[in-house]
Amino acid sequence: GRRINAAVAQVTSSTTSVEEADIDTMLKEISRALLESDVNIKLVLKLRDSIKKKIVNDKTPGLNKKKLIQKTVFDELCALVDCEAQPYKPKKNQANVIMFVGLQGAGKTTTCTKLAVYYQKRNFKVGLVCADTFRAGAFDQLKQNATKARIPFFGSYTETDPVEVARIGVEKFKKQKFEIIIVDTSGRHRQEKELFKEMVEIGDAVKPQQTVMVLDGSIGQSAQQQAQAFKESSNFGAIILTKMDGEAKGGGAISAVAATKTPIIFIGTGEHTQDFETFFPKQFISKLLGIGDIQGLMEHVKSLNLDQKDTIKNFQEGKFTLNDFQTQMTNILKMGPLAQIANMIPGMGDMMNQIGEEEASKRLKRMVYIMDSMTKQELDSDGQIFIDEPSRIIRVARGSGTTVTEVEMVLFQQRMMARMAKTNMSMMNTQKGRNPMA
Ligand code: GDP
Ligand code: MG
Repeated sequence: GRRINAAVAQVTSSTTSVEEADIDTMLKEISRALLESDVNIKLVLKLRDSIKKKIVNDKTPGLNKKKLIQKTVFDELCALVDCEAQPYKPKKNQANVIMFVGLQGAGKTTTCTKLAVYYQKRNFKVGLVCADTFRAGAFDQLKQNATKARIPFFGSYTETDPVEVARIGVEKFKKQKFEIIIVDTSGRHRQEKELFKEMVEIGDAVKPQQTVMVLDGSIGQSAQQQAQAFKESSNFGAIILTKMDGEAKGGGAISAVAATKTPIIFIGTGEHTQDFETFFPKQFISKLLGIGDIQGLMEHVKSLNLDQKDTIKNFQEGKFTLNDFQTQMTNILKMGPLAQIANMIPGMGDMMNQIGEEEASKRLKRMVYIMDSMTKQELDSDGQIFIDEPSRIIRVARGSGTTVTEVEMVLFQQRMMARMAKTNMSMMNTQKGRNPMA
């Protein structure tokens, strides 16, 4: 991510005009960065061609080519993951059977419970069926997760035929008027004939309204081939990407979506039930490109039901005052662990990497003290007031027990966020999450 970001930044930072020869160099650099993020080589080449075509053909006078490159890279990548197929939307007062498929270790069992909790919170009557009779301990794992989340479950210690367990479980829940019945299946380490045969048979037995493929977001290039193989045997209608909390940026998933024309609906961001987020194409690509993820931060804060004042409303109108910044910072300190959210703020992820959680937390607190020392008029402003009257900066530094440099840093970051609010929000506003309940 940082590599792509650096490549794009290089493109956008220099102020001189861009010659065509330079465009080639830049595209090469961006392509290399995308490849390093596991984006498929064929896609990268296609992307490079179409970007080049756009840029060479664009004869708009006075147009900033660097901006155009950046925007084109972003748009083209978004188009790749934002596929048109609509995921299934479960209906109330009827049985919706959702079958999970994927290789062993992809995160199926974990994600089953996450999805179950997601629907339970939205007032569906949800049950889990463990049709993994292949791996010893599979039922115990599901049972443990389900019990913890208070989700009814079904499985068997004695029946060895997964098709039979699936059929009986689904039937039982249907009789009891369950609305969402999630069927967890087994996987194998590799893609094997037996596995695909088993998926076809379970599918025939339970007739799912939706089949979800669970894909490990950290597997890189092999994602495409894996997704294609599963698509052939069990024509899944949605993808859930797991393990997006680690280093992986999910570049491989882009090719999986492009190859199967199947939308990603959620991403898993940790081992716990609450580590589950709606998938937003633009947010995903922002992260991949390392350009910060304010939308994600907003969503996260919103989900915690913290004090938001008018921040979200402001942001959607393309505004971001110091007051908004203060609210966000205060919320961030409440949210923890810092590392997880730091990446969502431009520049903050790098800072965390350099100085560590404890020091970063200290610095964030000082940022909050700084904003606490501002007057209401200052907080409600866009920061211009400090540029007009620099003596205010000195007053705030004194009042907060910090330095002028630190105050200037806060003002700088807020300006950056405000700029992002302005330029990105109109675009972000229109994006639709792929989550079927939204
Ligand atoms: P299954 O074999 O497909 O059922 O995979 P499991 O649900 O058993 O998950 C395999 C491992 O991945 C377990 O250790 C899970 O805790 C872990 N896991 C699943 N989803 C995530 C995720 O989103 N983030 C992280 N960090 N770990 C995950
Ligand atoms: Mg499992």
